[in-house]
Amino acid sequence: MKNLEVTSIEQLQSVLSTYFGYSSFRTGQEQAIQNVLHGRDTLCVMPTGGGKSICYQVPAMVMEGTVLVVSPLISLMKDQVDALLQIGVQAAYINSSLTTEEYFGIMENALAGAYKLLYVAPERFESQSFIQQINKMDIPMIAIDEAHCISQWGHDFRPSYRMMHTVINSFVKKPVVLALTATATPAVRDDICHQLNIDPEFTVMTGFERSNLTFSVVKGQDRDKFVKAYVKKNEGEAGIIYAATRKAVDQVYTMLERTGIAVARYHAGLSDTVRQSEQDRFLMDEATVMVATNAFGMGIDKSNIRYVIHYQMPKNMESYYQEAGRAGRDGLDSHCTLLFSSQDVITQRFLIDQSQDVNRIPGELEKLQSMIDYCHTESCLQKFIISYFGESDLQDCNRCANCTDTRERADVTVDVQKVLSCVIRMGQRFGKTMIAQVLTGSRNKKVVEFGFDKLTTYGIMKGRNAKEVSDFIEFIISENFLGVENGQFPIIYMTELGKDVLTGKTKVYRKATVETKQITQDDP
Ligand code: ADP
Repeated sequence: MKNLEVTSIEQLQSVLSTYFGYSSFRTGQEQAIQNVLHGRDTLCVMPTGGGKSICYQVPAMVMEGTVLVVSPLISLMKDQVDALLQIGVQAAYINSSLTTEEYFGIMENALAGAYKLLYVAPERFESQSFIQQINKMDIPMIAIDEAHCISQWGHDFRPSYRMMHTVINSFVKKPVVLALTATATPAVRDDICHQLNIDPEFTVMTGFERSNLTFSVVKGQDRDKFVKAYVKKNEGEAGIIYAATRKAVDQVYTMLERTGIAVARYHAGLSDTVRQSEQDRFLMDEATVMVATNAFGMGIDKSNIRYVIHYQMPKNMESYYQEAGRAGRDGLDSHCTLLFSSQDVITQRFLIDQSQDVNRIPGELEKLQSMIDYCHTESCLQKFIISYFGESDLQDCNRCANCTDTRERADVTVDVQKVLSCVIRMGQRFGKTMIAQVLTGSRNKKVVEFGFDKLTTYGIMKGRNAKEVSDFIEFIISENFLGVENGQFPIIYMTELGKDVLTGKTKVYRKATVETKQITQDDP
């Protein structure tokens, strides 16, 4: 393998400009490349659109042999291989879309050393004969894309990724490993390093902040009205609307089509041909709006998306940031809006409960809670996201809906104390609905059965409706004064921080309730 002694920065830059047409490396790219060229196994964490592919494509041009790229995304493999072939770089892919004949043809070429890059689906490594074959090749580096798939803590665990370690160790001359991911919380990062034996010191992580994105959460609005007005106002601009179900996609699609918007749709219920043509219409700007489930977007490189709207709350922050992050890849100002309704929480909880792997349920529920907290926080939304991904010492973005919300903040300490003491008196064994019922003095059968109508906190928030109190509890959770334990039912308890509010050490402020804020057509 060549290293930096023989491959100077100038040479790398010249590869970058000659082959890829870019004048300079982006943050993190050069360091990741330097690491692997020095033979150091590396974890590269960059946001979607950060430019991860260059981190293995440039080394592939200066290394001897064939760089193996492991990727679970069939469409991405094809796109990348097509793009590489166009710039004169020999590359191929092996996945389930190939015929047996094509597969053998590519393997024969690969064994003869014909490719600079060979993309492989992870499932291939479940075959011993395939491993034996690649062992005969000269492989200086293995790039593992979407590396979070190796971790049970990740949001997209794929068992075949677990084979990677064995594959890497099966080589007589061990290839250098470059693991790449866009969405890694500290626990997932540790797990990737652990599984792949990467020294965490060799983690290249670029900031997760996307300074051209403006985030907002909208609650208590008629979603259809909001979407219609938003799309009309931004007519001509490219945007994606993500909905949680196929049915919702079809419904939003039909609604927009009726208003004369050039709209496309994408979900797993449509045939391959229709999906492909809908995607093409969007990519070629024939349709300005794409309404889709989360099946759409992986590997899509459309740079001029000006907005992403989530019609429903997604299941976790990883999915949200990945999907929202498809806006503004060209660096221009773009908006990411999440439309929240408490029904979304029930839907997502239901989907998690249906999950095949019971061991994963607690972790998934914890992730869902962070997503719910995002919807209820009154702090900077960008800061909330980035700190979720493990960055600290963050500044407010001064752009998001929370940072620019100029409403007065009221001291709500006494109200928070009322809630906290009610939670304590109820034995920290109940969920949000029951707590709200006790606080508002409901005569519900269960409330009476448990004797909660005898508590001193019974009815201390009388006069407010249960929904308002329930939202207030969500706000307290998002501020970490209450916590949620996810068992068979979510149970709310008081946190250490909460104790400080109860004893008067910490004061709590809140803006007027978000529900009363009407988003007008003039808002972005
Ligand atoms: P990721 O895999 O991190 O989501 P990609 O590798 O697909 O990102 O790159 C995202 C976009 O950035 C692509 O359009 C790519 O061509 C572009 N890009 C990558 N590196 C550079 C660079 N050094 N200069 C300019 N554009 C770049």
